[in-house]
Amino acid sequence: MSEPQIAEPKTAEVKPAGEIASAPARKPAQNNNEDQTLMCPSAQPDMAGSRVLGVVGGTMEAAQVAYLNESLPVTSELLASTAPLKPTEVFRFAARCEGKACRHFDGANCNLATRIVQILPAVVDTLPACLIRQACRWYQQEGRAACMRCPQVVTESFQPSEEFLRAALG
Ligand code: SF4
Repeated sequence: MSEPQIAEPKTAEVKPAGEIASAPARKPAQNNNEDQTLMCPSAQPDMAGSRVLGVVGGTMEAAQVAYLNESLPVTSELLASTAPLKPTEVFRFAARCEGKACRHFDGANCNLATRIVQILPAVVDTLPACLIRQACRWYQQEGRAACMRCPQVVTESFQPSEEFLRAALG
């Protein structure tokens, strides 16, 4: 497996189209991601269409995800490579949005994305160079405000702030 490449921290050229990373808890139900193209940017590696979105860096107190600049699918080798850490401690994953199968989705909106924008501070002032923007549920719903907060979102947080917990858990 080749080493994942970290995206350069530069402003991405995007046209508006549109998750702290407690990855969404899921209910075994139907998927109401109607067009089947939107992606959850705070996914679990076993979700359909899962790929590595970025690598977790920063500090225990202030995580910072570095986004990959190439598509890296989830494989058993990739998941095994993070041992003894869990894959979600090392990587952030994106996967197909599960729509109504996800407890954060109310049939119209991802409430996790809403809370992130309402509760967490922006941590960057330019759009991260993220490869999934055109398909990202958070961006589609919340626009740039989601992206400005997105790099602090990690699936495993060991010293979550009070804001982080409110955003993640509602
Ligand atoms: S940076 Fe923006 S487009 Fe990329 S995953 Fe985060 S919210 Fe979605």
